[in-house]
Amino acid sequence: MEQDKLHNILNKTEFTKEDIVFLLSQTGEGRTRLFKKANAVKQEIVGQKVYFRGLIEFSNICSKDCFYCGIRKSNTHVSRYVVTDEEILYAAKYAYENDYASLVLQSGEISSPAFVDRVDRLLKEIKKISNGKLGITLSCGEQSPETYQRWFASGAHRYLLRIETSSPKLFYKIHPKDETHDYIRRLKALKDLRLAGYQVGSGVMIGLPFQKLEDLADDILFLKTLDVDMCGMGPYLEHEETPLFQYKDELWPKEERFDMALKMVAVLRLVMPDINIAAATALQAIDPAGREKAVTLGANVIMPNLTPTAYREEYRLYENKPCLDEDAEQCKNCLEARIHLAGDEIGYGEWGDSKHFKKRKQKDEQSSQN
Ligand code: SAH
Repeated sequence: MEQDKLHNILNKTEFTKEDIVFLLSQTGEGRTRLFKKANAVKQEIVGQKVYFRGLIEFSNICSKDCFYCGIRKSNTHVSRYVVTDEEILYAAKYAYENDYASLVLQSGEISSPAFVDRVDRLLKEIKKISNGKLGITLSCGEQSPETYQRWFASGAHRYLLRIETSSPKLFYKIHPKDETHDYIRRLKALKDLRLAGYQVGSGVMIGLPFQKLEDLADDILFLKTLDVDMCGMGPYLEHEETPLFQYKDELWPKEERFDMALKMVAVLRLVMPDINIAAATALQAIDPAGREKAVTLGANVIMPNLTPTAYREEYRLYENKPCLDEDAEQCKNCLEARIHLAGDEIGYGEWGDSKHFKKRKQKDEQSSQN
C-alpha cells in the first residue's frame, strides 16, 4: 500500500502539502526511491551538468542581528573586514581564467550610499576585466528597488535572498522583531528583485529550533508560489556566539538535519523541475561529501569559495564552516574530482542560467504582446 502511495506521489507533477510531508518522511527504501526519482528528473530536465559560481564573501560587516548568524552585528568577537577591490578583481580574474563563467558576491547587509556605490563600481570593473563574460550573482541582502535596479543595470543578473523560513511565526523567533528584520519587507525585496529583471533565488534553513516537518513542506510550497528561478537551502548549524545557541539541545541531531536538507533538495527538484538548485556549503560542514551528495539527487549548482584565505576565518556564519584554510586552487581541484565521482560534469565556461527563468521571460514577453 505504502509503496503504491509513494509510486503515485513520485509520479505527480502537482504536489499537495500532504504529499510533500509524506515524501520528507521517507526513510530506507522510500528515501532511496525519492533520491533516484529526483536525480532522474534533474537529468531529464536540466541535464547532467553542474555549474560553478565562484563565491567571494567580500565583507562581514552587517547591520542586522539575526539570531542564528555568526556575523550578526552584536557579535563583538568577530573582527570585521572588507576585501579590497584589488583582491576582489584578482578573484574575479581567477574565476574568468578558470572558466567558472559566474561569480557570486556575498556580504553582510549594508545599504549605505558608499556600499551601494562600491558594489556598483565593482560590478562594472568585473564586467570590464572579463570582456562582459563573467556572469554575476549578488547576495547582499535587502536593498531599495532603486539599488536593485542600479546594480542590475551595472551587470548583476542573478540575486540570492533567502526568506530563511516561510513561516512568519518562526521568522520572528529567529530574528528580532523590528523594522530591519521584517518578514513583509523581505518578501517585498524578493518582488522588487523580480521586477528589476533578475533571476531570483531564495531558500531556507533546515532544522531550525522550533521548526516542524510541516513548516518545511510549507517552505517548498512557498518557493513554488514565489516562482523562484533558483534556490539555495541548507542545514541550520548552531553558532556559539548567537542567541539561538541556547536551544542547541533541542535541535534534530546534525545527521538528521543533513538528511532532511537532502530530502528538501530532492523534493524541490520534483516540485520545480527546471530551476537551478545550489548544493549549500553548510551541507559540507556536516558531511565532507555533502555537496556532492546533493548533486546526485537534484542540485545542479556549486559555489566554490574564492574568498582570499586570510578572511575566511571571519566569515563564519556557523560552526565547522568548511575549507577555511584552503585557497581557490585547492577548492577547485577538490571539487572537480568530487563532481566527477558524483557522475556529473562541470559546465565550464557556461553561465548555466536557470531554465525556469528563460521560460518565465518568454511567457512574460508573450503576455505583454497580447
Ligand atoms: N546578507 C545576505 C547574505 C547572508 S549570508 C542576506 O541577508 O541575504 C547567507 C546565508 O547564510 C543566509 O541567508 C543564511 O540562510 C545562511 N546562514 C546564516 N547563519 C547560518 C547558520 N547558523 N546556519 C546555517 N546557515 C546560516
